[in-house]
Amino acid sequence: MENCIFCKIVKGEIPSTKLYESERVIVFLDINPIEKGHALIVPKLHWSNLAEVKLDTEKEIETYEELMYVMRVTAKAVISTGIADGANILQCNNACAGKTVDHLHFHVIPRYGKEAVAVPAFNSGAVKYEEGEVSVITKKLADAIKKIIQEEDLL
Ligand code: 5GP
Ligand code: ZN
Repeated sequence: MENCIFCKIVKGEIPSTKLYESERVIVFLDINPIEKGHALIVPKLHWSNLAEVKLDTEKEIETYEELMYVMRVTAKAVISTGIADGANILQCNNACAGKTVDHLHFHVIPRYGKEAVAVPAFNSGAVKYEEGEVSVITKKLADAIKKIIQEEDLL
């Protein structure tokens, strides 16, 4: 897709802070994070939303399966390593549901502390990283994702 920002990230035409990359799936930090470590799980194939997912070819099936797998692993990396205390998974279909990028993606949003968050507060405003924090959280999450994938040995 020519004008799709996530296709450009997939092709390396736009930089991103990657947490994971394979032939089929890429995970990178959201440029406007709701919380520190807010990650986007993105298939390399361009599907607009869940209704547009095609499962006709082996490549499409493998991409979808790996997308689901890596989403779980990313959430597990966030919550099982002490990086965060919990996490939300968010996925938007169409503008009325808050979707702004027309390329299927799942948000994994770490949550910190003991206070319950109001779940609809997904657009409650961005946090800012302190200097040096992006590289620290990127390494922690990328290492945790790699470790879980190695341990589970399913890919
Ligand atoms: P949506 O509302 O479509 O589910 O979310 C799109 C997300 O993509 C937003 O959270 C937004 O901050 C993020 N985003 C938009 N453009 C870019 C970009 O160029 N790079 C990165 N890393 N994230 C982006
Ligand atoms: Zn795209």
